[in-house]
Amino acid sequence: TLKFLPIKPKDKFSHIMDKIEEKIRKETYDTMTYSQQNKYLPPYYCPRNLENIYKVECRLRATRNTDTFDENLKDLPILPFDGNACGLTKRTNADMLLIPRAIYKDPFKRGNSILVMCDTYNYKMEPTRTNHRHKCAATYNKCKEHEPWFGLEQEFYLLNPIDSRPVGWPKCGFPRNSRQYYCGIGGDKVFGRELIDAHYRCCLYAGIPLWGINPDLVPSQWEYQVGPSVGIDAGDDAWMSRYILNILGEKFGVIISFEPKPVAQWSTSKAQMNFSTQATRGVNGISVIQKGIKKLATFHERHIKVYDPRRGLDNKRRSTSTGLTKSTIDDFSAGIAERFYSIRIPRTVAENKCGYMDDRRPPSNCDPYQVIEALMGTVILNE
Ligand code: ADP
Ligand code: MN
Ligand code: MN
Repeated sequence: TLKFLPIKPKDKFSHIMDKIEEKIRKETYDTMTYSQQNKYLPPYYCPRNLENIYKVECRLRATRNTDTFDENLKDLPILPFDGNACGLTKRTNADMLLIPRAIYKDPFKRGNSILVMCDTYNYKMEPTRTNHRHKCAATYNKCKEHEPWFGLEQEFYLLNPIDSRPVGWPKCGFPRNSRQYYCGIGGDKVFGRELIDAHYRCCLYAGIPLWGINPDLVPSQWEYQVGPSVGIDAGDDAWMSRYILNILGEKFGVIISFEPKPVAQWSTSKAQMNFSTQATRGVNGISVIQKGIKKLATFHERHIKVYDPRRGLDNKRRSTSTGLTKSTIDDFSAGIAERFYSIRIPRTVAENKCGYMDDRRPPSNCDPYQVIEALMGTVILNE
């Protein structure tokens, strides 16, 4: 009979567990073999950081019921919210403000209902510490005429809320090591497609330019792509797509995990940002891309610092993976069609001599506003 052992905290036992895990991964091909060995369940990181971001940045949970409203941003009301309740301030008189910034159609309530993307301010109208939209919008305003476009590739895991293990994985042990999961099909390889398709449809209904979806490297790891979106819209579209995904997670009873490394030794999750400007898309844009890459090399560390909520530490965990992905963040690197480098120039872009670059460094739990702000600042504004 199988016995389920408790999940042990990562930090205490990490060195032993990593070793055992590595051994198991080498020795077992068939998951049944391992589950009969009756060892332990792998450790998990609690996605607490992301929770915080959602509470503040993605403050769309509150519903307001009105008979009529004008769908103009400037006519929408500025709403107060409780800054204390979401940890933004210790004050008791903690009213803070939500300023409407972008409107989407509500795919859940439908009809005339809308979802409104807001950013957050204190009573003095200063942006709150988690409001990265503010700076991003200011930077975009300085370089609008360059028409920066962004395309996000958001990776994530679906987790089972009971044990926080990826949906569909064996109760003990791991899935069979296989190259058949990525873009895979089949009830033994792919889990949650119903939810992913619902997300695709909901985003398109809402007005978010969903580019595509694909199952990623291991069962229950997925990817969707947003964009290309122009300037600040890219951040709004990205956050709104995450919001909708989380609501669907509730409806389907699974956890959406943007944790960069939810299972030790297994495929990590990224949020690559594809980036182009009018110049890179134009004739011989490849030379502009090369110049941009030189600047990005110079400011590599600065980018890594703003690419995740813990100033690079979350991304660091991603790079210590010995599993299916290699590091894209420790040292800066760039190349054509190179998927293990920091910046990749897609093969088609190299052939056409114009197009976009693929920044592969952002981890799945990045704030897209911070990522695109840094890209515009470094590549276009030389800041
Ligand atoms: P890959 O094969 O590299 O994984 P995907 O199809 O998953 O590519 O993702 C491609 C991404 O590139 C999409 O998010 C798309 O919006 C974005 N993209 C395409 N063209 C441009 C462009 N000119 N500028 C910026 N982003 C772009
Ligand atoms: Mn992709
Ligand atoms: Mn991927």
